[in-house]
Amino acid sequence: MTAIQPMKSERTEAQPAAETADIAGIAESPRSPCFDHAPHPGYLRLLETGELAERARLLDAMQSPCVLCPRRCGVDRKSGRTGVCGADHRPKIAAASIHMWEEPPITGMRGSGTIFFSGCTLQCIFCQNYPISQLGAGRILTPEELARQMLRLQKRGAHNINLVTPTHQAPAFVQALLVAASEGLRIPIVYNTSGYESVEALRLLEGIVDVYLPDVKYDSDEAARLCSRRSDYVAHNRAALLEMWRQVGPIRTDAEGLAYRGMLVRHMVLPDNLAGSEKCFEFLAREIGPDVWVSLMNQYFPAYKALQVPPLDRKATSDEYESAFKALERLGLHNGFVQECDGAPEGE
Ligand code: SF4
Repeated sequence: MTAIQPMKSERTEAQPAAETADIAGIAESPRSPCFDHAPHPGYLRLLETGELAERARLLDAMQSPCVLCPRRCGVDRKSGRTGVCGADHRPKIAAASIHMWEEPPITGMRGSGTIFFSGCTLQCIFCQNYPISQLGAGRILTPEELARQMLRLQKRGAHNINLVTPTHQAPAFVQALLVAASEGLRIPIVYNTSGYESVEALRLLEGIVDVYLPDVKYDSDEAARLCSRRSDYVAHNRAALLEMWRQVGPIRTDAEGLAYRGMLVRHMVLPDNLAGSEKCFEFLAREIGPDVWVSLMNQYFPAYKALQVPPLDRKATSDEYESAFKALERLGLHNGFVQECDGAPEGE
Protein backbone atom coordinates (compact mmCIF):
# COMPACT_ATOMS: atom_id res chain seq x y z
CA MET A 1 0.00 0.00 0.00
CA THR A 2 1.42 3.37 -0.92
CA ALA A 3 1.27 6.30 1.47
CA ILE A 4 -1.58 8.78 1.16
CA GLN A 5 -0.72 12.47 1.25
CA PRO A 6 -2.68 15.70 1.28
CA MET A 7 -3.03 17.04 -2.22
CA LYS A 8 -0.65 19.87 -3.03
CA SER A 9 0.29 21.57 -6.23
CA GLU A 10 3.67 19.87 -5.99
CA ARG A 11 3.91 16.53 -4.31
CA THR A 12 6.53 16.17 -1.65
CA GLU A 13 8.25 13.32 0.09
CA ALA A 14 6.09 11.52 2.60
CA GLN A 15 5.83 13.12 6.02
CA PRO A 16 7.85 11.50 8.80
CA ALA A 17 6.15 8.46 10.21
CA ALA A 18 3.62 9.25 12.93
CA GLU A 19 4.42 8.30 16.47
CA THR A 20 2.24 5.25 16.46
CA ALA A 21 3.70 2.36 14.56
CA ASP A 22 0.24 1.45 13.29
CA ILE A 23 0.01 4.48 11.07
CA ALA A 24 3.57 4.63 9.80
CA GLY A 25 3.62 5.97 6.28
CA ILE A 26 0.46 8.05 6.48
CA ALA A 27 0.97 11.78 6.25
CA GLU A 28 -0.48 14.29 8.65
CA SER A 29 -4.07 15.35 8.26
CA PRO A 30 -4.61 17.84 5.46
CA ARG A 31 -5.68 21.40 5.57
CA SER A 32 -9.44 21.49 5.71
CA PRO A 33 -12.04 24.10 4.87
CA CYS A 34 -13.26 24.35 8.45
CA PHE A 35 -12.50 22.93 11.86
CA ASP A 36 -15.24 22.74 14.41
CA HIS A 37 -16.85 20.58 16.99
CA ALA A 38 -18.32 17.48 15.48
CA PRO A 39 -22.07 17.22 15.98
CA HIS A 40 -23.61 13.90 16.93
CA PRO A 41 -24.00 11.47 14.05
CA GLY A 42 -27.22 12.05 12.14
CA TYR A 43 -28.66 8.64 12.89
CA LEU A 44 -29.10 9.50 16.58
CA ARG A 45 -31.63 12.19 15.76
CA LEU A 46 -33.47 9.78 13.45
CA LEU A 47 -33.45 7.19 16.21
CA GLU A 48 -35.08 9.63 18.63
CA THR A 49 -37.85 10.58 16.23
CA GLY A 50 -38.59 7.01 15.13
CA GLU A 51 -37.53 7.84 11.58
CA LEU A 52 -34.64 5.35 11.67
CA ALA A 53 -37.07 2.47 12.17
CA GLU A 54 -39.21 3.78 9.31
CA ARG A 55 -36.17 3.97 7.01
CA ALA A 56 -35.27 0.40 7.92
CA ARG A 57 -38.80 -0.66 6.97
CA LEU A 58 -38.73 1.21 3.64
CA LEU A 59 -35.30 -0.18 2.71
CA ASP A 60 -36.44 -3.65 3.61
CA ALA A 61 -39.37 -3.29 1.22
CA MET A 62 -36.94 -2.39 -1.57
CA GLN A 63 -35.40 -5.87 -1.51
CA SER A 64 -38.66 -7.72 -2.07
CA PRO A 65 -38.69 -7.53 -5.08
CA CYS A 66 -35.17 -6.13 -5.09
CA VAL A 67 -34.64 -2.71 -6.66
CA LEU A 68 -31.93 -1.59 -4.28
CA CYS A 69 -29.31 -0.96 -6.95
CA PRO A 70 -29.52 0.10 -10.61
CA ARG A 71 -29.59 -3.53 -11.77
CA ARG A 72 -33.14 -3.86 -10.38
CA CYS A 73 -32.98 -7.67 -10.49
CA GLY A 74 -36.46 -7.95 -9.02
CA VAL A 75 -35.77 -11.11 -7.02
CA ASP A 76 -37.44 -11.61 -3.68
CA ARG A 77 -34.42 -11.62 -1.40
CA LYS A 78 -36.55 -12.03 1.70
CA SER A 79 -37.60 -15.44 0.47
CA GLY A 80 -33.93 -16.42 0.28
CA ARG A 81 -33.34 -15.75 -3.42
CA THR A 82 -30.23 -13.92 -4.54
CA GLY A 83 -29.63 -11.49 -7.38
CA VAL A 84 -26.39 -10.64 -9.18
CA CYS A 85 -24.86 -9.29 -5.95
CA GLY A 86 -25.07 -12.79 -4.49
CA ALA A 87 -26.82 -11.74 -1.28
CA ASP A 88 -30.15 -12.64 0.21
CA HIS A 89 -31.65 -10.44 2.94
CA ARG A 90 -29.27 -11.59 5.70
CA PRO A 91 -26.11 -9.57 6.41
CA LYS A 92 -23.01 -11.49 5.33
CA ILE A 93 -19.62 -10.08 6.21
CA ALA A 94 -16.06 -11.18 5.51
CA ALA A 95 -14.37 -9.04 8.17
CA ALA A 96 -14.96 -6.43 10.86
CA SER A 97 -11.67 -4.89 11.88
CA ILE A 98 -9.71 -1.71 12.52
CA HIS A 99 -8.22 -0.44 9.27
CA MET A 100 -5.28 2.01 9.25
CA TRP A 101 -4.92 2.70 5.54
CA GLU A 102 -7.86 4.86 4.57
CA GLU A 103 -7.41 8.59 3.93
CA PRO A 104 -6.24 10.53 7.05
CA PRO A 105 -9.64 12.07 8.01
CA ILE A 106 -11.13 8.56 7.96
CA THR A 107 -8.26 6.71 9.63
CA GLY A 108 -7.17 9.24 12.24
CA MET A 109 -4.83 7.94 14.92
CA ARG A 110 -6.86 4.91 16.01
CA GLY A 111 -8.20 3.64 12.73
CA SER A 112 -11.46 3.14 10.89
CA GLY A 113 -13.86 0.39 11.92
CA THR A 114 -14.30 -1.40 8.61
CA ILE A 115 -17.03 -3.93 7.95
CA PHE A 116 -16.53 -5.76 4.66
CA PHE A 117 -19.80 -7.01 3.23
CA SER A 118 -19.78 -10.09 1.08
CA GLY A 119 -21.05 -9.71 -2.50
CA CYS A 120 -21.19 -6.68 -4.80
CA THR A 121 -23.50 -5.07 -7.32
CA LEU A 122 -20.60 -4.65 -9.79
CA GLN A 123 -18.42 -7.43 -11.15
CA CYS A 124 -15.11 -5.72 -11.77
CA ILE A 125 -12.73 -8.09 -13.51
CA PHE A 126 -9.77 -6.53 -11.66
CA CYS A 127 -11.31 -6.59 -8.18
CA GLN A 128 -8.60 -6.98 -5.56
CA ASN A 129 -11.18 -8.26 -3.07
CA TYR A 130 -12.81 -10.74 -5.47
CA PRO A 131 -13.01 -13.65 -3.00
CA ILE A 132 -15.27 -11.41 -0.88
CA SER A 133 -17.04 -9.43 -3.59
CA GLN A 134 -17.59 -12.16 -6.17
CA LEU A 135 -16.84 -15.59 -4.71
CA GLY A 136 -19.05 -15.29 -1.64
CA ALA A 137 -16.46 -15.44 1.14
CA GLY A 138 -17.97 -14.40 4.44
CA ARG A 139 -20.21 -15.39 7.29
CA ILE A 140 -23.92 -14.77 7.67
CA LEU A 141 -24.97 -12.82 10.76
CA THR A 142 -28.21 -11.65 12.26
CA PRO A 143 -28.78 -7.87 12.42
CA GLU A 144 -28.21 -8.11 16.18
CA GLU A 145 -24.84 -9.79 15.63
CA LEU A 146 -23.91 -7.11 13.11
CA ALA A 147 -24.87 -4.47 15.68
CA ARG A 148 -22.54 -6.15 18.17
CA GLN A 149 -19.70 -5.96 15.64
CA MET A 150 -20.30 -2.21 15.31
CA LEU A 151 -20.26 -1.75 19.06
CA ARG A 152 -17.13 -3.88 19.38
CA LEU A 153 -15.31 -1.70 16.82
CA GLN A 154 -16.35 1.44 18.71
CA LYS A 155 -15.09 -0.10 21.95
CA ARG A 156 -11.75 -0.85 20.30
CA GLY A 157 -11.38 2.86 19.53
CA ALA A 158 -12.49 3.07 15.90
CA HIS A 159 -13.24 6.63 14.82
CA ASN A 160 -16.12 5.54 12.61
CA ILE A 161 -18.02 2.56 11.21
CA ASN A 162 -16.80 2.15 7.64
CA LEU A 163 -19.26 0.06 5.62
CA VAL A 164 -17.36 -1.39 2.67
CA THR A 165 -19.51 -2.34 -0.35
CA PRO A 166 -22.77 -1.79 1.54
CA THR A 167 -25.25 -1.03 -1.28
CA HIS A 168 -26.96 -4.43 -1.42
CA GLN A 169 -26.93 -4.70 2.38
CA ALA A 170 -28.47 -1.31 3.17
CA PRO A 171 -31.62 -2.81 4.76
CA ALA A 172 -29.52 -5.07 6.99
CA PHE A 173 -27.11 -2.40 8.16
CA VAL A 174 -29.86 0.09 8.97
CA GLN A 175 -31.64 -2.66 10.92
CA ALA A 176 -28.37 -3.32 12.76
CA LEU A 177 -27.83 0.40 13.29
CA LEU A 178 -31.20 0.62 15.03
CA VAL A 179 -29.96 -1.89 17.58
CA ALA A 180 -26.42 -0.52 17.86
CA ALA A 181 -27.54 3.12 18.26
CA SER A 182 -30.02 2.09 20.95
CA GLU A 183 -27.18 0.35 22.76
CA GLY A 184 -24.65 3.18 22.63
CA LEU A 185 -23.14 3.53 19.17
CA ARG A 186 -22.01 7.16 18.82
CA ILE A 187 -19.46 7.27 15.97
CA PRO A 188 -20.09 8.41 12.36
CA ILE A 189 -21.19 6.06 9.58
CA VAL A 190 -18.96 6.00 6.48
CA TYR A 191 -20.52 4.59 3.30
CA ASN A 192 -17.67 3.20 1.18
CA THR A 193 -19.06 2.37 -2.25
CA SER A 194 -18.28 1.69 -5.91
CA GLY A 195 -20.62 4.59 -6.67
CA TYR A 196 -23.03 2.34 -8.61
CA GLU A 197 -26.10 3.36 -6.66
CA SER A 198 -29.78 4.02 -7.05
CA VAL A 199 -30.80 7.55 -6.07
CA GLU A 200 -34.04 6.14 -4.66
CA ALA A 201 -32.15 4.01 -2.14
CA LEU A 202 -29.68 6.80 -1.35
CA ARG A 203 -32.54 9.12 -0.42
CA LEU A 204 -33.49 6.68 2.32
CA LEU A 205 -29.96 6.97 3.70
CA GLU A 206 -30.14 10.75 4.12
CA GLY A 207 -29.31 11.62 7.71
CA ILE A 208 -28.08 8.05 8.36
CA VAL A 209 -24.80 8.21 6.45
CA ASP A 210 -22.43 10.87 7.78
CA VAL A 211 -19.57 10.47 5.29
CA TYR A 212 -19.89 9.19 1.72
CA LEU A 213 -16.78 7.60 0.21
CA PRO A 214 -17.84 6.81 -3.37
CA ASP A 215 -15.75 5.91 -6.41
CA VAL A 216 -15.92 7.66 -9.73
CA LYS A 217 -14.56 4.73 -11.71
CA TYR A 218 -15.06 5.56 -15.39
CA ASP A 219 -16.17 8.29 -17.74
CA SER A 220 -17.44 5.91 -20.44
CA ASP A 221 -19.89 3.04 -20.53
CA GLU A 222 -17.56 1.12 -22.87
CA ALA A 223 -14.91 1.07 -20.15
CA ALA A 224 -17.53 0.19 -17.52
CA ARG A 225 -18.75 -2.73 -19.64
CA LEU A 226 -15.21 -4.02 -20.22
CA CYS A 227 -14.06 -3.64 -16.63
CA SER A 228 -17.19 -4.01 -14.47
CA ARG A 229 -19.72 -5.78 -16.71
CA ARG A 230 -22.16 -2.85 -16.60
CA SER A 231 -22.96 -0.52 -19.46
CA ASP A 232 -24.98 1.94 -17.38
CA TYR A 233 -22.39 2.88 -14.77
CA VAL A 234 -21.69 6.47 -15.76
CA ALA A 235 -25.22 7.88 -15.60
CA HIS A 236 -26.05 6.11 -12.33
CA ASN A 237 -22.69 7.04 -10.81
CA ARG A 238 -23.07 10.70 -11.69
CA ALA A 239 -26.62 10.88 -10.38
CA ALA A 240 -25.49 9.16 -7.18
CA LEU A 241 -22.58 11.56 -6.65
CA LEU A 242 -24.89 14.54 -7.02
CA GLU A 243 -27.36 13.06 -4.55
CA MET A 244 -24.61 12.32 -2.01
CA TRP A 245 -23.29 15.85 -2.42
CA ARG A 246 -26.78 17.26 -1.90
CA GLN A 247 -27.04 15.33 1.36
CA VAL A 248 -23.65 16.00 2.94
CA GLY A 249 -21.59 18.51 0.91
CA PRO A 250 -17.82 18.83 1.31
CA ILE A 251 -15.76 17.05 3.94
CA ARG A 252 -15.91 18.72 7.34
CA THR A 253 -13.47 17.75 10.06
CA ASP A 254 -13.26 18.20 13.81
CA ALA A 255 -10.36 19.64 15.74
CA GLU A 256 -8.47 16.34 15.38
CA GLY A 257 -8.86 16.40 11.60
CA LEU A 258 -11.41 13.57 11.58
CA ALA A 259 -14.24 13.68 9.07
CA TYR A 260 -17.64 13.86 10.67
CA ARG A 261 -19.62 14.77 7.54
CA GLY A 262 -19.16 15.15 3.81
CA MET A 263 -18.23 13.38 0.60
CA LEU A 264 -14.76 12.24 -0.49
CA VAL A 265 -14.64 10.87 -4.05
CA ARG A 266 -12.09 8.20 -4.92
CA HIS A 267 -10.63 7.68 -8.37
CA MET A 268 -8.17 4.96 -9.30
CA VAL A 269 -5.97 5.55 -12.33
CA LEU A 270 -6.14 2.62 -14.78
CA PRO A 271 -3.65 1.62 -17.48
CA ASP A 272 -3.98 3.31 -20.85
CA ASN A 273 -6.28 5.93 -19.26
CA LEU A 274 -9.12 3.38 -19.32
CA ALA A 275 -10.79 5.20 -16.44
CA GLY A 276 -10.93 8.46 -18.41
CA SER A 277 -9.51 10.30 -15.42
CA GLU A 278 -9.59 13.82 -16.82
CA LYS A 279 -13.21 13.50 -17.98
CA CYS A 280 -14.19 12.19 -14.54
CA PHE A 281 -12.57 15.23 -12.93
CA GLU A 282 -14.21 17.55 -15.47
CA PHE A 283 -17.57 16.23 -14.35
CA LEU A 284 -16.72 16.84 -10.69
CA ALA A 285 -15.39 20.33 -11.36
CA ARG A 286 -18.31 21.31 -13.59
CA GLU A 287 -21.23 19.79 -11.67
CA ILE A 288 -19.99 20.01 -8.09
CA GLY A 289 -17.18 22.54 -8.07
CA PRO A 290 -13.83 23.10 -6.41
CA ASP A 291 -15.05 22.30 -2.89
CA VAL A 292 -15.28 18.60 -3.71
CA TRP A 293 -12.65 16.38 -2.10
CA VAL A 294 -10.90 13.85 -4.35
CA SER A 295 -8.63 10.95 -3.44
CA LEU A 296 -6.44 10.03 -6.41
CA MET A 297 -5.39 6.40 -6.15
CA ASN A 298 -2.40 4.71 -7.69
CA GLN A 299 -2.87 1.22 -6.34
CA TYR A 300 -4.09 -0.58 -9.44
CA PHE A 301 -2.51 -3.94 -10.13
CA PRO A 302 -3.87 -6.74 -12.29
CA ALA A 303 -5.89 -9.10 -10.12
CA TYR A 304 -8.53 -11.75 -10.69
CA LYS A 305 -9.51 -11.91 -14.41
CA ALA A 306 -7.59 -8.77 -15.43
CA LEU A 307 -4.41 -10.70 -16.19
CA GLN A 308 -6.04 -11.95 -19.40
CA VAL A 309 -7.38 -8.57 -20.55
CA PRO A 310 -4.89 -5.99 -21.90
CA PRO A 311 -4.28 -3.21 -20.98
CA LEU A 312 -5.56 -4.26 -17.55
CA ASP A 313 -2.79 -6.84 -17.34
CA ARG A 314 -0.29 -4.22 -16.18
CA LYS A 315 -0.04 -1.42 -13.64
CA ALA A 316 -0.58 2.18 -14.67
CA THR A 317 2.70 3.87 -15.51
CA SER A 318 4.06 6.77 -13.51
CA ASP A 319 3.43 9.00 -16.55
CA GLU A 320 -0.22 7.92 -16.64
CA TYR A 321 -0.63 8.70 -12.97
CA GLU A 322 1.15 12.02 -13.31
CA SER A 323 -1.12 12.98 -16.17
CA ALA A 324 -4.20 12.33 -13.99
CA PHE A 325 -2.68 14.41 -11.20
CA LYS A 326 -2.01 17.30 -13.56
CA ALA A 327 -5.62 17.17 -14.77
CA LEU A 328 -6.78 17.58 -11.17
CA GLU A 329 -4.51 20.58 -10.77
CA ARG A 330 -5.58 22.14 -14.05
CA LEU A 331 -9.24 21.85 -13.05
CA GLY A 332 -8.65 23.48 -9.68
CA LEU A 333 -9.54 20.42 -7.59
CA HIS A 334 -7.14 20.95 -4.74
CA ASN A 335 -8.95 19.37 -1.79
CA GLY A 336 -8.10 15.79 -1.06
CA PHE A 337 -5.29 13.28 -1.28
CA VAL A 338 -2.84 11.66 -3.64
CA GLN A 339 -0.91 8.45 -3.23
CA GLU A 340 2.82 8.40 -3.65
CA CYS A 341 3.61 7.42 -7.19
CA ASP A 342 4.93 3.87 -7.45
CA GLY A 343 3.55 3.06 -10.90
CA ALA A 344 5.71 1.25 -13.43
CA PRO A 345 8.05 3.55 -15.35
CA GLU A 346 7.03 4.30 -18.92
CA GLY A 347 7.99 1.46 -21.24
CA GLU A 348 7.66 -1.40 -18.77
S1 SF4 B 1 -28.96 -5.30 -4.75
FE1 SF4 B 1 -28.48 -7.32 -5.62
S2 SF4 B 1 -30.45 -8.36 -5.93
FE2 SF4 B 1 -30.86 -6.17 -5.57
S3 SF4 B 1 -31.03 -5.27 -7.60
FE3 SF4 B 1 -28.89 -5.02 -6.96
S4 SF4 B 1 -27.76 -6.85 -7.72
FE4 SF4 B 1 -29.98 -7.26 -7.82
